[in-house]
Amino acid sequence: MHASDWKKAAALVCTGVAFFFAGTAQAAEQPELRIGVNVLPVLADPVDGARDLNQDYMAILANYAGMRAVYVSASWQENLARLQSGEIDVIANITDLPARHAFFDYGRIPMSTSKSMLYLRGGTQMFDRADRTTPLRIGVIRDQYTSPYLGMVLAAEGFPYTLSEYEDRKALAAAYAAGRIDGCSLDTAMPKSLQPAAALQADPVYFVVKKGNQELLDRLNSAASRLALARPMLYADLYDLYHINTGGEALMLDHRERQYLEEHPTLHFAAVVNERPYSYMDGNGEFAGGLRAIVDRVSADLGVTIEIVPVDSAEDAYAALADGTADVLLNSRWSPGWAITHDYKQTAPYMTSYFTEVTRRSGKPEDPMVAYWSQRLGETTLSKRFDEDHLKRYASVEDSLQAVADGHADVAYLRQDVAQYETFAGRFPGLVANGTVAFATRTAMTMPQDADPALLSALDKEIAHMGQEVANGAIAEERQKFLKNQSIGAYFYNYPQYFFFGAGIVALVIALSFWRYRRMKKRTEAHLQDIIDRDPATELHNLAWIERVGSPIVTVSKGGKDPYLAAVAVHAMRPDIIAGTYGREVLAAVCRELGRDMELAPWAVHVGTRTSSAEVFALVRAEEAVLVPALREMLRKHDAQRVGRMLVRIPLEAGVCYVGDPPMDLKTAMNNASLAAHGARPVGIFNSKLQRETLLMSRMESIQEDALARREFHVWYQPKYELKTKRCIGAEALVRWESKELGFLPPGKFIPLFEGNGFISQLDFYNLEHVMQFQREAPGKGLPVLPISVNQSRQHMREEDYIERVRKLVAEYGTTGVELELTETAFDVLGEAMRAHSIDVVESLRGMGFSIDMDDFGSGYSDLALLNQLPLDVMKIDRSLLLASEGSGRMRIVLEQMIALGHALDMHVICEGIETEEQEQMLISCGCEYGQGYLYGKPMRRADYEAFLREHA
Ligand code: C2E
Ligand code: MG
Ligand code: MG
Repeated sequence: MHASDWKKAAALVCTGVAFFFAGTAQAAEQPELRIGVNVLPVLADPVDGARDLNQDYMAILANYAGMRAVYVSASWQENLARLQSGEIDVIANITDLPARHAFFDYGRIPMSTSKSMLYLRGGTQMFDRADRTTPLRIGVIRDQYTSPYLGMVLAAEGFPYTLSEYEDRKALAAAYAAGRIDGCSLDTAMPKSLQPAAALQADPVYFVVKKGNQELLDRLNSAASRLALARPMLYADLYDLYHINTGGEALMLDHRERQYLEEHPTLHFAAVVNERPYSYMDGNGEFAGGLRAIVDRVSADLGVTIEIVPVDSAEDAYAALADGTADVLLNSRWSPGWAITHDYKQTAPYMTSYFTEVTRRSGKPEDPMVAYWSQRLGETTLSKRFDEDHLKRYASVEDSLQAVADGHADVAYLRQDVAQYETFAGRFPGLVANGTVAFATRTAMTMPQDADPALLSALDKEIAHMGQEVANGAIAEERQKFLKNQSIGAYFYNYPQYFFFGAGIVALVIALSFWRYRRMKKRTEAHLQDIIDRDPATELHNLAWIERVGSPIVTVSKGGKDPYLAAVAVHAMRPDIIAGTYGREVLAAVCRELGRDMELAPWAVHVGTRTSSAEVFALVRAEEAVLVPALREMLRKHDAQRVGRMLVRIPLEAGVCYVGDPPMDLKTAMNNASLAAHGARPVGIFNSKLQRETLLMSRMESIQEDALARREFHVWYQPKYELKTKRCIGAEALVRWESKELGFLPPGKFIPLFEGNGFISQLDFYNLEHVMQFQREAPGKGLPVLPISVNQSRQHMREEDYIERVRKLVAEYGTTGVELELTETAFDVLGEAMRAHSIDVVESLRGMGFSIDMDDFGSGYSDLALLNQLPLDVMKIDRSLLLASEGSGRMRIVLEQMIALGHALDMHVICEGIETEEQEQMLISCGCEYGQGYLYGKPMRRADYEAFLREHA
């Protein structure tokens, strides 16, 4: 504030110009400090709601005075009037002029400095202009202070000037932009579009209160004192906030600087190259790092070549400056005072570095030993913090880190970027950078005291032009480059926890996938296995499954540990007849229902079915006294099956084999149970007798072929006779096995076995041929050729070549005196087609000349339809019918009718098994012609039969 303004201000106070309040807060607990804010129409851009550093200063001062700052915006004149009227408490940014002391009381400590600046288009370059007669057109703002030094400075540079007044800064800026003025004179900081050409004047500025407001003045002075102590750098910080050079300033070199650079097209910059990623030599021996970007930028902006003189230490760098090898030291710590005392001059700082601690992972002790490598860092910052005997200097960053790693020192202080790089590089796995800022240093360029001032000012201008962002950005970029190049090992060293965590996650994912895969595989396998393990018709488990799951249990229980463990087999009697008559599904249904029911039984361990043989198997655990009644009940429950609307009886029988008696495996136990079931009607227990029989059967099977070759099978002959005359009319051939090993065996012992294993085919042909031979030889021996009937197993009905083989024998021996006996069961075959085939077979045999006997007639389900379908020659009534007729009048009628039927069908009728004369008489009275039985003659050896023949024929 200067005198001319003051008059105007006083006038404003008198005229009582209307005023207004900007601040509105009323009910604050703290007293308000109403600050008159001098609002210029165009001022520096507001930052965070404040407008300039003086206003910020007042707000902070209010904080220290325990008051709440309220800004009251108005013009300069208005503020003066308000201070007088008491509507505001304080005005900031007032220069100290004696005249003002009548109205204001000044604060004791200046709050900042007010600079009056001359701005010119092109800055100082304007002074290089050749034309010095045309006046420079300078703009000022009406009512604003204009420094009297303006004229002096322009005169000194040799320029006349003219002044143009503008209403406000906006109008001034517009005139400048339109080229109507060459520059301006202002007493505040200007927008960036203007370049400063000269500082005209700098005066301390103060806050003022209304004259006599001693209480407020004291309060604010006291607060200012405390603030100055607490924040010695407040002004610098605020200056930075508003005016720090963030780059982008136009680089305006004047003629002296330009001339210097033209004369020195190549500059030599010493660089201390021992800090990555900040300053180092790369693999190609090129200068690299964040500082490289600074050098490139300076070189490009100043239009000079910069050659780097790499040195290992600051000492070497100063030596290079001293011997002229280098013009400038690129990276030295900014410290103007140090520079002057050591005969150097320094540029403005171009970079700020923040230092952090590097320690071992375990941290540092309370009184740590400090490793450092930069001499000046040790002499200055570190020596202020640590005792001399706790500081150890090393030759390089690496050496000092090694010292910490080895325990020779406890902590090293490095630039954050360098610390980060070194610990990330992986060479010092045991070290960590804690990242917090311990202190900061600034880096500037240094040159000898006798260096040309034009070089210094050119570099300063360049630094202002670049701003600190160039250095910060370049170093950040370098750091990124290094981070990208980190090995996994480095990450592992530095972040083992993340690494292990990550590795853990990966392992977990792999384990989970593997587990899922295994589970899926298991499920699929289980599914497949389940398909394999089930009987398709009943969907119950099959025999193979029982054997697999049950065998371990049986094995463990061998030796009687589990005496109630048993195998059970249940089957339908004569399943082939049922299947042939009603279809296989009926058997499957019986097995399914029985199996399911059995699965629910408390004694059942595992249950399975085999529909191909219409069998249900189970591994059970129950004592005989419980099991047998339970099985009986179960068989009774399931022995009928509904087929369409008909209920069909399906008789079932069961066998039980306890696995521990004697110890055996499950498969054997199952077979034994099955064996015990045969003919059990309804439940049979496999016992030692059956066991012996089983053994015997297996022995028979193994020697059957040898026995045939050794001619152990013999045909015996049982005579047939005419009942009335007792005349022998022929014989039945009955086979006997006189085994060297097993002794004498009747056919009941081995025929069923051979029917099962197919050996019957060979045996029957053997016997047939034997009988044929007998008949062929009979006349030669003087014997009559009486018919001999040979039993033919029903198994032949299944043999493809049966007829062919018979035909061959017939071709050799003829059929004279040979009859064939077939039982009804030969026609109990599966399905119509097989039945038709069986009938074909019989017809073929008759066609060859055989007469056919229907053996065992009346023993089972006698099929009268068959007799009609198939014209047979002899009806052989079974012994059971004879026995039944003895005790029952009704059965005798059946016998009588049966005989009559035979005769009606043009058959001979013979009855088997006559043992008594009463039987014989009964048969005669029933009309039966022929007989066979012990009464007349037992089966006898060939020789005996021959003798018998001679006697009875
Ligand atoms: P089958 O053909 O019904 O033979 C009659 C069976 O009754 C014979 O038993 C015979 O010895 C027996 N028998 C005869 N008279 C009497 C009697 O008065 N009282 C009693 N209780 N039994 C009498 P065998 O010889 O033990 O033969 C049994 C069965 O073996 C035969 O029954 C037959 O089906 C079969 N068989 C015998 N030899 C052969 C053969 O060479 N081939 C085939 N496929 N089966 C044969
Ligand atoms: Mg017979
Ligand atoms: Mg018979």
